[in-house]
Order: sequence, then C-alpha cells, then structure tokens
Amino acid sequence: MEEKSKVKALKEQLFMPAKTGISTVKDPEINKADEFCEGYKKFLDNSPVEREAVKYSAEIARSNGFVEFEQDKKYNPGDKVYYINRDKAIALAVIGKNGTKNGVKLSIAHIDSPRVDLKPNPLYEDTYLAFFKTHYYGGIKKYQWTVMPLALHGTVVKLDGTKVDICVGADEAEPCFCITDLLPHLAREQASKTLSKAIEGENLNVLIGSRPIESEDDESDLVKLNVMKLLNEKYGITESDFLSAELCFVPAQKCRDVGFDRGLIGGYGHDDKVCAYPALMAAVNSGTPDCTCVTYLTDKEETGSDGNTGMQSDFLRYFIYDLAKADGEEGYRVLSKSMCLSADVNAAFDPIYASAYEPKNSSYINKGVIISKYTGHGGKYDTSDASAEYMGKIRSMLEKNEIMWQVGELGKVDIGGGGTIAKYVANMNVDVVDLGVPVLSMHAPFELISKLDVYEAYRAFYAFFNNM
Ligand code: MN
Ligand code: MN
Repeated sequence: MEEKSKVKALKEQLFMPAKTGISTVKDPEINKADEFCEGYKKFLDNSPVEREAVKYSAEIARSNGFVEFEQDKKYNPGDKVYYINRDKAIALAVIGKNGTKNGVKLSIAHIDSPRVDLKPNPLYEDTYLAFFKTHYYGGIKKYQWTVMPLALHGTVVKLDGTKVDICVGADEAEPCFCITDLLPHLAREQASKTLSKAIEGENLNVLIGSRPIESEDDESDLVKLNVMKLLNEKYGITESDFLSAELCFVPAQKCRDVGFDRGLIGGYGHDDKVCAYPALMAAVNSGTPDCTCVTYLTDKEETGSDGNTGMQSDFLRYFIYDLAKADGEEGYRVLSKSMCLSADVNAAFDPIYASAYEPKNSSYINKGVIISKYTGHGGKYDTSDASAEYMGKIRSMLEKNEIMWQVGELGKVDIGGGGTIAKYVANMNVDVVDLGVPVLSMHAPFELISKLDVYEAYRAFYAFFNNM
C-alpha cells in the first residue's frame, strides 16, 4: 500500500500533469468566455472578407481611443495608433513605457479566409441561366461549396476611379446565390470519382439569374442582360468593370451557437478571425505596456502570404521602422530584439477522423489555446520551428497567468501539412511561435470552435502584452 503511493507521488513529481481542460473551469469563468464571444460573433458576421474585417477593426479601435498613425510624429507611452495597408490589412500599436528600445511585442493574425473569387471576366449565360465564373481562393474541399446559400462581397473600381462596395446576400431579406450539384439519380459516374475530382474547379460556376429582359426581337443573352441591367441600376457598373474588381462568394449564413449547451460557435472564417478578434481586443484593452505592442491583422495568408497586403510584404517592417525612428532607434535593431505570437488556428482532434491525428501531440476542443512549435510538413520543411529558449519564455508566461494551454502538431507526421505566417516573421530576425484556437472542420464553410478556447486566446494575447 505504502509502496504504491510512493510510486504515485513520484509520478506526480516527474510526469507531465494531465491537461484537464474545461472540466476544472468554474461557471463565472465560463460566463466571461460566453460574454466575450458575443463580441466575437458580431466581429465574425461583420468580417467575412479582409476589407470588411479591416473596416470593422478600425471602428472598434477608433471607438477605444486609437488614432490614425502619422509618420514622423513623436508618440508617448499609452498612445494608441492604427495604420491601414490598402484597406486589406491593419496594424494597431500601443506605445510602451520604454517604446521600442527593448524590441516590440507582436501578435499577428490573418483576416482572409478560403472562399470562391470571381474571375476577371465572370459573367455568362447558358440555357437561359446566368452564371459567374470563379477561381477559388485558398484550400477548399470543393464539394462543400455547392448547394448552399452564398453571398457576394467585394469592391468594384470603375473606369473613372470611383469605388463601389458590393454586399448582397448577407441579409436574409436579400437574395443569395448558389453553385448547383448533380442529382444522385444521375451521379453514378460522379460518385465513382475521387473527392478532389468529383467537383472540378472549372465547374464552380455560381447561378446568379434566371429571368430574361423583355424583348420583341430574337436577341441572345437576355438573362445576362437583365442581370447586368440590375447591377447597373444599383451600382452604376457595366460588364467591363469586372476587370477592375475584387468580388467573392462566401457562405451567406451568420454564425450560430452549436450544441444543446451552446459551448461551440459554428461559422464561416474562424480561421483566422478567431485569433484576429482576441488579438485585436488584447490591444484595445491593453494598459500601458513596458514595450510597444503591435497587433497586426494581415491578408493573403490562405494563398501563401504573397502580395503587398500579405505577411511577406514589407508593410509591417516599415511600420516598425517608423515607430523605431520616432524613438531614435534603428529599425533592424528593434526587430532583432522583438518577440511575436503568430496568432493562427490549428486542427482540433476529431474523434470521427482519429486516424489522421497523433493523440499525444494534438490539440483538443475546450483545452485552451494551442501552441504549435512548428508547422510545415514531413521532415519539418517550410517552418521556422520556435527555439527551446522562446518556447520556455512563452510557457512561463502562460503558466504565470494561469492560461489554459496545450501543444499540438497538425495531424500525423507525413499525412499532410500546412503553414502559417510564423516563418515570414522569423525571417525578420524575430522570435516567433504559433499560438491560437483549435478548430474542427477547418476551411469548411461552417467551422467549429469552443467559446472557452477563444477567451483563453484573448487572455493569452493580453498577458503577452501586459504581464510577461
Ligand atoms: Mn490560418
Ligand atoms: Mn487556413
């Protein structure tokens, strides 16, 4: 008997304690998480595409005392500024007591999500039905995007340079759009194809109209003409204006609580608004930190972070150089002393597809934020892989602030893989690791996350800024 308890004590001393998760969390804390997530749900519904996310984030920032950043202006500790990149990415800074002297702290999330973009020449008619041709954006399972209500979001720039924002279908009173699929009765051939071949990218054409314009003569393309007439009446655009546009289809439905207990939120674009919102609110609610803290919400992550609004652009680097210059510091030296949380999601363990995961190194719903030391794929390619030293610092910060956290990899070794913006931050000579929220059904039109995990992410970003 005595021997057994000795072993037990030794185990307790030497083994990793089991992660308990939500079962040890008391009701008041759960209530705080639920309350925080009401704000998140609004953010999610208002931010399906990056331009809308930037607009909504800037509104939240402005109403909390942030002002537009001015180059060459001297800022004081506690000042709060925001800086927008081409309407598609936004940086928010809270100036610290020591400014940029000892480096800055960065939390970086992305606000683009997988979706279906319009081609530059999208509009056509076939058998008296009008369609938009599309080219999907990011990693999607194409079959998931058929036979569901879609909304059209985006911006058109006319020949005279004026800009028109378009948003149709997000409101239930408005019409929506749809990609059709073959009925099962006639799908014997389709059903024998592999998942990636059953729905072809070139067939993701969205049905947008079915009524011809009234005509006395035997003219063609009358349904297409009717659609163009309606668009012209409402937005003043012609078919050529699609050439200078960014329009995309996203799921039309708003996010919903999921489960009898309402513990989860289902919705479009959790990847990565579920990290963007907590990182944004950590900046918004921040006191005056020791070193300047920057939350950056970037674009283009889902297609490789290329482009001048993606993480590979120098926009953030230049912003930090500007902050450094105002303090009389060298930008590259500030970066070299800086730390970053790459705020991105990872795959939550799904018991239904358990064979894709390695249970000891997976993240679980309701067990808090997930730290991914590295992402990439087999053989640790395409990842920055956080150092033991930096993992040590972040681990201490999380423990000190009693934040619920877990580690995890993206599935089994050699089964697939994926990356984040972390490696591009690391390339700027900054210490970085991924910290985010576990997601079920990632990249689906309806992804699932836990409310408690969202709140823990907020607490983690807040503690990183204010209590490390
Ligand atoms: Mn992501
Ligand atoms: Mn993603």
